[in-house]
Amino acid sequence: MDVFAEKFADLKILRYSVPEFENLDLQKKLYIYNLSQAALCGRDILWDQNNRYNLSVRTVLETIWKTFSGNRETPEFKLFEIYLKRVWFSNGIHHHYSTEKLPAGFPEIYFKELIAHSNWSDFKLPSGKNRHEFISEIQEVIFNPEREKKRVNLDPEKDLLVSSSNNYYQNVEQSEAEILYAELKAHAGSEPVSFGLNSTLVKEDGCLVEKVWKLGGKYGPAIEQIIFWLNKAIDYAENDLQKKYIGHLVQYYATGDLALFDQYSIDWVKELDGEVDFVNGFIEVYGDALGIKGSWESIVNYKDTEASKRATILSENAQWFEDHSPVDPEFKKAEVKGVSAKVINVAILAGDCYPATPIGINLPNAEWIREKYGSKSVTIENITQAYFLDSMNNGMLEEFAASTEEIERTRQYGYLAGNLHTDLHECLGHGSGKVRKGVNTDNLKNYYSTIEETRADLFALYYIMDDQLVKLGLVPSIDAAKAEFDGYLRNGLLTQLTRIEPGKDIEESHMRNRQLITRWVYEAGKGKNVVEFFSSEGKTYVKINDYSALRDLFGQLLKEIQRIKSEGDLEAARNLVENFGVKVDRQLHIEVLERFKKLDLAPYSGFLNPVYELKVYPCGTSADVLIRYDEDYTSQMMRYSKDFGFLPMVNE
Ligand code: ZN
Repeated sequence: MDVFAEKFADLKILRYSVPEFENLDLQKKLYIYNLSQAALCGRDILWDQNNRYNLSVRTVLETIWKTFSGNRETPEFKLFEIYLKRVWFSNGIHHHYSTEKLPAGFPEIYFKELIAHSNWSDFKLPSGKNRHEFISEIQEVIFNPEREKKRVNLDPEKDLLVSSSNNYYQNVEQSEAEILYAELKAHAGSEPVSFGLNSTLVKEDGCLVEKVWKLGGKYGPAIEQIIFWLNKAIDYAENDLQKKYIGHLVQYYATGDLALFDQYSIDWVKELDGEVDFVNGFIEVYGDALGIKGSWESIVNYKDTEASKRATILSENAQWFEDHSPVDPEFKKAEVKGVSAKVINVAILAGDCYPATPIGINLPNAEWIREKYGSKSVTIENITQAYFLDSMNNGMLEEFAASTEEIERTRQYGYLAGNLHTDLHECLGHGSGKVRKGVNTDNLKNYYSTIEETRADLFALYYIMDDQLVKLGLVPSIDAAKAEFDGYLRNGLLTQLTRIEPGKDIEESHMRNRQLITRWVYEAGKGKNVVEFFSSEGKTYVKINDYSALRDLFGQLLKEIQRIKSEGDLEAARNLVENFGVKVDRQLHIEVLERFKKLDLAPYSGFLNPVYELKVYPCGTSADVLIRYDEDYTSQMMRYSKDFGFLPMVNE
């Protein structure tokens, strides 16, 4: 299987392999198969959530793609295809990452030509519309830059709801929604449901109404299909707790009752014995500027037994790591528990996890459930592996690594070291340390998430070079740690700048944290030349001269970051983040962008799913589930629209 599938605009399409799927027993394969079908059935929900015109735009574009009778070899038609591929990738008309509306990339006049030479005889218009009006409106939505400008607007100068063009609110002002949900929460006690998570908030005749996403309600036709496959999956579940929580999930989809979703989440967290697991629902709230409405997503996965051993060893030794960390004894936990992290392989990605996908999952989101029952944290092995394999072949390493020795070390140990870093960060880093009484996350305000990610990364960086990891059998040699240090500094000081537009500063908290750490250790180690920038043939490189001194610096900074968190020292947090994490060295940035541009790489990647086929014996009992990887991007998208397009173009 080739990891790389294709590339267009700023996007790259990759494939992930599903290791050992063929060797799973039939019951597990069928469980995965039915859950995968349930996953694919929700695709249209996300499209409509992202913007109310998305399903219409998609249907119009796909009709053109299927039936256009003019010349399909012209540059304009190629540009049209790229636009369609971008819309597919974003699950709508807005860029998946910046959330700004995608430019069509071809002239409006050509769109009219496409419309005129396509076949509309099978096109089912939304009721009450004539074709001319309908197409004109879609054209307006695509080409008028003032229409549907940005999916999620976070600029506090404007009304966050009015200025966001997602479909979570209709005719509702920010203050109205805030007051409504704050009031519901205020009267809900200490274990509140996630108010507003599964509905569109609409103002009708001056009243606020929630249109709940449920069977018989909004998105009913897609939810009906999800329920159908979830019910089938119950028959193949691995244990009773899985059966129970799928039952609750089905009931929740049927009624929209958020208390049932909480019950499902609690049992889901408790269920740790099965090998197959999944997420299916309205989960993450990043698509809503107010962080209330859940976008629909699904992932089906199963345990990677080998790699999970790694995470288990770390969790079992969590106390040792806490006791030996360089932070002030006052801020150490007397009793620390490792997070029950495991390593998984995904079998299907869907909704808001497709094609762009996370590399880890940490759920549920409800704070009180996390406190009372814990959470599940997983690293997705086959996705990180696909990224790594791709990165070894795209020229980035050769362009930015300081020496051939560094390149070879990365090829040999980079993958293992990267995974270990993630495990240390997730299983131990976030859970370590103790805060002073009365201090909480609000103390650090908008700097909290950067400081918290910095803390977890430093924990990982400090320990990856510890003999204890060799003793525990997690790393073969100290060279693995060196590979991680090389890669971390190369990324924090150079290559992550490729994701920033010229003239802009760093906003995203993980990127801020990486620059904070790398800039700080560079400055702090200057006197002893621990890390140096050098230039060769006009290109800047980063070189580590003293790995063990660098490790000490990571330890020093970890101690300070833990103190900042433990004391809630806002002033110190602000200084560190603003001085080291935010501002970009303009000259270096321009150089890095130029070098990156020459490599002609895409900054964003997404994944194709494999194709699962149920092989059935003549008598009707299923015999096997087959997997193949030969479907291309366009075929997959067109198939999903045809086989899983359960919603009408307009959903009220
Ligand atoms: Zn983290």
